Amino acid sequence: MATRKPIITTIGSLNVDVVVYTPRVPEGGETLTASSFHTGLGGKGANQAVACAKLSRSRDSLADGTADVRMVGAVGSDVYGTSMLSGLRDVGVDTSGVAVREGAKTGVATIIVEETSGQNRILLSPEANHTVLPEHFATALPEPTPDLVVMQLEIPLPTVLQILDTARRQGVQVLLNPAPAVKIPAEYYPGITHLVVNETEAALLTGCAESELDTPEGLARVAGIFHGYGTRNVLVTLGGRGVYYSSSGNKSGLVPAQKVKVVDTTAAGDTFVGAYSLAVVGGDFDIEKAVKVANSAAAITVQRRGAQESIPWLNELSN
Ligand code: ATP
Repeated sequence: MATRKPIITTIGSLNVDVVVYTPRVPEGGETLTASSFHTGLGGKGANQAVACAKLSRSRDSLADGTADVRMVGAVGSDVYGTSMLSGLRDVGVDTSGVAVREGAKTGVATIIVEETSGQNRILLSPEANHTVLPEHFATALPEPTPDLVVMQLEIPLPTVLQILDTARRQGVQVLLNPAPAVKIPAEYYPGITHLVVNETEAALLTGCAESELDTPEGLARVAGIFHGYGTRNVLVTLGGRGVYYSSSGNKSGLVPAQKVKVVDTTAAGDTFVGAYSLAVVGGDFDIEKAVKVANSAAAITVQRRGAQESIPWLNELSN
């Protein structure tokens, strides 16, 4: 009998990124000619589903992945929705859990990149993402029951909280990447098995100053706050400094970032989440090993331009 592959279900946002590059941002009432423009597939939910799919299979044998990766969310009945779905399928993500809302629009992130300063200005239009509602998850998680649910905060917060509740009732592990950061009521933290935060998110959720994360003691204190709320595994991604991990009552440490030539850090956090998630469902979970693998995978992403396209395939990872 064939053994069943572990199932990772990402429940979250699907957005099309509309990116325009300009030498400077126009003043109110002013029209400027942009340098260039492109559209790409994005949304934290979709990016993390793509990361799980690519990191668990080779480009030339999509069906042979080590995990069954599923996306749950909503798009509109427009051309953006169609390209989101085919983009996900093209890398091996099962999209049967993505609802196509008749008459609604797909989420869009409008990104203005000012070339002189390198600053991004982003306007998020959630559209169909805001039709992912708590009642869809009140009785059970989407079938088939996953081994791990991966979530972010680009769908309505009450929906995320409902899923945390339902997953806990069903005994399913949840990885939460609370981006963009908003406060989560303390009683929900025990339902978060793995919390992946960057420095900004860690500071906002704990009320600590970001500067506290500069020292080992500060990192341990921040992780201790999350453990105190009831979360078992805490991962603080520190950009070019690496990752701090802490498992309550077990082990903690800092894995330094790999020294690489950085081209573009977009999707580094999503790659980390994808690789770590695969380690969680891969059997014989060891937090330190999981963090090391995920740190190496993210180091590949930062050496490449782009978002989903910069995430490596399984055969590009070194052992
Ligand atoms: P994003 O939102 O852009 O995906 P993030 O803020 O969620 O990123 P970061 O903490 O910036 O996440 O990065 C995630 C991980 O990527 C880091 O913990 C590290 O493993 C890797 N990484 C990021 N920047 C670098 C770098 N300069 N050199 C090597 N690895 C890096």
